[in-house]
Amino acid sequence: MTELRGVGIGLGVAQGPVARMADPLPAPSDAPSTASADDETARAREAVAAVARELEARGAQAGGAAQEVLEAQAMMAEDPALQAEIDARIAAGKTAEWAVHDAFASFRETLAAMGGYLGERAADLDDVAQRVVARIRGVPAPGVPDPGHPFVLVAKDLAPADTALLDLDKVLALVTTEGGPTSHTAILARGKGIVAVVGAAGAAGLADGETVIVDAAAGVVLSAPTAEELEQARARAEARAAAASAPITPGSLADGTAIPLLANLGNPEGAAEAVALGAEGVGLFRTEFLFLSSDRAPTVEQQRAVYTALLEAFPERKVVARVLDAGADKPLAFLNDAPEDNPALGLRGIRALRASEQILRDQLQALAEADAATSADLWVMAPMIATVEETRYFVELAREYGVKTAGVMVEVPSAALLADRVLAAADFASIGTNDLTQYAMAADRLLGSVASFQDPWHPAVLRLIQDVGAAGAALDKPVGICGEAAADPLLAVVLAGLGATSLSMAPAALADVRAALLEHTLDDARRIAEAALAAEDAASARDAARAAATQKKETQP
Ligand code: PEP
Ligand code: MG
Repeated sequence: MTELRGVGIGLGVAQGPVARMADPLPAPSDAPSTASADDETARAREAVAAVARELEARGAQAGGAAQEVLEAQAMMAEDPALQAEIDARIAAGKTAEWAVHDAFASFRETLAAMGGYLGERAADLDDVAQRVVARIRGVPAPGVPDPGHPFVLVAKDLAPADTALLDLDKVLALVTTEGGPTSHTAILARGKGIVAVVGAAGAAGLADGETVIVDAAAGVVLSAPTAEELEQARARAEARAAAASAPITPGSLADGTAIPLLANLGNPEGAAEAVALGAEGVGLFRTEFLFLSSDRAPTVEQQRAVYTALLEAFPERKVVARVLDAGADKPLAFLNDAPEDNPALGLRGIRALRASEQILRDQLQALAEADAATSADLWVMAPMIATVEETRYFVELAREYGVKTAGVMVEVPSAALLADRVLAAADFASIGTNDLTQYAMAADRLLGSVASFQDPWHPAVLRLIQDVGAAGAALDKPVGICGEAAADPLLAVVLAGLGATSLSMAPAALADVRAALLEHTLDDARRIAEAALAAEDAASARDAARAAATQKKETQP
């Protein structure tokens, strides 16, 4: 048995024979063209337009997040600056094929140099270029193989166009040798619930047809597994399927301690699915989608309509909306267009809003009006709070607009370390473990090369969470968790043991977390959390928690 490490997406486990994605097309030759420049330009234009239309059509068929990604790719393909680069190469006597290949490559380098979110999008350009070159050559675009039976797809990285239309009856799991946890492959795999491990460089050596186990929960791919390992993986997959079909009950520990299970939503359209999967409310409504696609802030009326639609889906339920979190991985020109060397440490979240206070005021007004018009219980929180002073600023402003429950996200270690004082000034706290981990570990959450640091199991992160939990308990104020950590079932138990009073996650994770909480009492959860806290790194914290959780089950009558 060989263990290939990567980053697991989701918690599933699957097994099956490998089918590898075909290698990319060879680079075209840069010999001079024998056709006229006009002919070459026409060929290039036709191919770019055809590929853009095909991407849009695939997007329309896939819907959801995939559609946004594919439409963005289609727009990139037809970017006038890129077109001008292609034209210039053809004018210099090159073929359409080479001009496309080379112009896309230079565009890719420009994007990659920008780093961050745009840098990660650079890889998407390779796929578009391959599709355009294939079209010019009149050969099929490289894509997902079809061996005629279900398979584990192994690829360098998957283009959004391929991930969007993966046939889930055939693809048992997905393994990529490149790509980090925030690559499009990862985002789309998460959205579709595909068992996936990304960035597993060692998977490049897997051969077609060999059987592997893809264990997303552990972030490993096992090649040449033993019969016993295959059997264990099968049993785990069955247990997960059983958890998914277990009755939907309110989130609770085994002793009846309520831990409400809430949904993270990025737009109101996800509400119906969240309710169907048993979300007891919304723990994080990310409002960025209203702002990111436009070059100016939406009006109060536009915002009110969206917030009202969301709140109406949760009558009498708690809905926690976060005011705009722009900057760093979510850049927004009209809030902050100053170039920053370290945008994650720059003018983002509440800092950016404060610098453009009218945008914050409009948002608070729209939220308060939507709250007044519906029966949901709206809570509003601010992202990236670093100081007690920022907490007071936000809470006072929110109250000015009639927001009844105003709180803060704890994502910056300073806010966790002063949680007693921060919570004294706010109605509640919600811990954003994605950013809290990024800042505690000084590891850019978008950077594949430091992805191993972005692990909320790290005892340093757990200790910060423990401080916030203790402050919440002392002041009798709610402390929710809304980062990805809450979606990891065993970590969810640890978080409850550290004092979390609610957990919010992608709706697809609710069933697993509900089942895990029901296995342990609050005392157990505290003991399991202690075991994790006592470890010296993330991997041993996870192991220690697993051992403590199993030990308890074995000693049960
Ligand atoms: C977080 O940082 O954990 C969080 C929930 O916010 P986002 O992922 O939107 O930054
Ligand atoms: Mg955050």
